[in-house]
Amino acid sequence: MENTIERIYADAMDALASATDVDGVNELSIQYLGRKGRVTHFLRNISSLPAEERPLAGKRANEIKRSLENEFKKAEERLTSSTQTVTDRIDVSLPGRVPEKGSLHPITQITNRICNIFSQMGFDVVEGPEVETDYYNFEALNIPKNHPARDMQDTFYVSDNVVLRTHTSPTQPRVMEKRKPPVRIIAPGKVYRCDSDLTHTPMFHQVEGLLVDRHVSFSDLKGTLAAFVHQMFDEETTLRFRPSFFPFTEPSAEVDIRCVICRGKGCRVCSHTGWLEVLGSGMVHPAVFENVGYDTSQYTGFAFGMGVERIAMLKYGIDDIRRYFDNDYRFLSQF
Ligand SMILES: [Zn+2]
Repeated sequence: MENTIERIYADAMDALASATDVDGVNELSIQYLGRKGRVTHFLRNISSLPAEERPLAGKRANEIKRSLENEFKKAEERLTSSTQTVTDRIDVSLPGRVPEKGSLHPITQITNRICNIFSQMGFDVVEGPEVETDYYNFEALNIPKNHPARDMQDTFYVSDNVVLRTHTSPTQPRVMEKRKPPVRIIAPGKVYRCDSDLTHTPMFHQVEGLLVDRHVSFSDLKGTLAAFVHQMFDEETTLRFRPSFFPFTEPSAEVDIRCVICRGKGCRVCSHTGWLEVLGSGMVHPAVFENVGYDTSQYTGFAFGMGVERIAMLKYGIDDIRRYFDNDYRFLSQF
């Protein structure tokens, strides 16, 4: 009787070796281990064996049953994985690996945005030299020899008469010398000052604006800057003009906007005042017009200047200006 169960086992293993698919294995499983299977049948009929053979035959039959269960399961797994197609194993709908591509620096993006807004209002974009003469950087802009802005502490002198421009304002006299009114320009570019901390870097970016025509008034300045701020930030951002002093404008005003972070409630960014200073502006000083030969009885104009980093910091909520120039890929890739 022992031979019977061994033969069943050998038959099952032979049949399994020639099974080519999962259905074939399932078929064998039923044939041998199913309710009417050969192994099951053998176990059920153990009682018909002579008493002394029963324990051994029963033990062996159970071993074979477990072994076959195990073999069928392994065969099924093997055949399942080999019959899978490529599309079963790889999700072709997943996005592929996209090559990394660069993007414009946040300062460039904000500069472009500022220039676009003013271009839509009819301003021409012009550029001036970064290495500038003392005359255009100071003299032509009514900044006298003894003005503190000319101190070595603030200005990088290349030689006695040549400086790294401390502001974009020298483009004003440079353009006015070449063009007759009306003039409507916007001048973006790098400027340099001996300064470095959380809110200052030795090199930073400004955008200068100048409009000269007949009957230009302070209300034109206000309207132009309000239109700019509303496009740069949003329509709800209100402006405030504070009297100030610049040698090349008279009257002069600093322009604050309602804090874009706290909406005027007061926060760390606005030093709990609810306002943020973003611009310097004013009506062009007659002395500047005289330097370029404009008739001050005919023409008036306004000028303004803003720091691009400052606008970008407010726009993106960044509190350390030096981050823009650290060349940290993780920082820059956010923009
Ligand atoms: Zn605030």
